Amino acid sequence: MKKVVYLDNNATTKVAPEVFEAMRPYFTERYGNPSSMHSFGGSVAREVSAARRSLAELLGASPQEIVYTSGGTESDSTAILSALATNPGRREIVATRVEHPAVLNLCKHLARTKGYIVRWLSVDKDGMLDMNEVRNKISDETALVSVMWANNETGVIFPIDEIAEIAQEHGALMHTDAVQVVGKIPIKVSESNINFLALSGHKLHAPKGIGALYIKKGTRFSPFVIGGHQESDRRGGTENVPGIVGLGAAAALARKNLVEENTRVRQLRDRLQKALLERIPACRVNGHLERRLPNTLSIGFEYVEGEAILMRMDEKGICASSGSACTSGSLEPSHVLRAMGVPFTAVHGSIRFSLSRFSTEEEIEFVVRELPGIIEFLRSISPFGRDALSAICTVH
Ligand SMILES: *Cc1c(COP(=O)(O)O)cnc(C)c1O
Repeated sequence: MKKVVYLDNNATTKVAPEVFEAMRPYFTERYGNPSSMHSFGGSVAREVSAARRSLAELLGASPQEIVYTSGGTESDSTAILSALATNPGRREIVATRVEHPAVLNLCKHLARTKGYIVRWLSVDKDGMLDMNEVRNKISDETALVSVMWANNETGVIFPIDEIAEIAQEHGALMHTDAVQVVGKIPIKVSESNINFLALSGHKLHAPKGIGALYIKKGTRFSPFVIGGHQESDRRGGTENVPGIVGLGAAAALARKNLVEENTRVRQLRDRLQKALLERIPACRVNGHLERRLPNTLSIGFEYVEGEAILMRMDEKGICASSGSACTSGSLEPSHVLRAMGVPFTAVHGSIRFSLSRFSTEEEIEFVVRELPGIIEFLRSISPFGRDALSAICTVH
């Protein structure tokens, strides 16, 4: 495999070597079922508990408030469906227009098939919420407020604690999709009115297929996956033990590396941003410059197709994402950038770079060297053949 410069960490991350090593014995030697009566299984149950404590510590929660799931999507579904099931008298959901599909499409589905009313929150040109609109849309009819903690495309961070307080004043439950913030910014859920918080292992250097849902003590709960008595009857099914152990190890590492994430990684991101803005004409950063995750840079290059940029970068081994949801052969521009009112000419040429603590200065310098030439070339041959675009358009 050729060497890659991996700058797509908001899509998924590498499993940290320490995480992999922590998981290994749970495939090969310690493969017991934590529910078994024998000590072979019992010792595994203790590791599952230790991992739960580690994750709880990262969130500022207590271990009993953590339920393991298969990932961010299941955690979001569990929280949203539980909030509605336990609040049958209320028929309204408040959510932002820039949620991840895990929330966005479930809310649309609930509106279409179950008659819920979704009150959508808009964002401004910087990708920020209008708190007056938040106050106006949350009411005593609201069953659930679902607002992501930070946006996966732009990295913009929302004032979740403040929104959770407003939700509580109206007796609504508060859910936040925190998949992009866990491990990147400090979190202390015990000091907030958040009822549900979703996270995903593979966004913080644990494997794919493991995640967790924080459920605040005292929150009414209705399970999504019903089966055995695992997870104190809150999520049936034999535990994904290696995944859980991996998530616990990743949480411990995230705590240790939180400072680095906000210093070295942020500096690398800022270096990339500054150099690209200096060297490439007609480009702009998408999203608020300050209220933003330290690892994310969404940048719109006008008059170029994002997919063409991605293809050219891919030839150089650079991995990033475009601002288009490249599904079913159509180049739908990103719902996030559209909601921000990013001009048409820049939406299509938007690229998201997302770094991690494994990103290096050399990698950033490589992108800074290669990208200006790519953009210049693509602009010189524009309009780029649309057939070539659709040919590289695969699900991502
Ligand atoms: C990746 C992601 C998810 C989905 O998590 P999975 O574990 O892949 O299901 C949900 N929300 C956000 C913001 C994400 O970035």
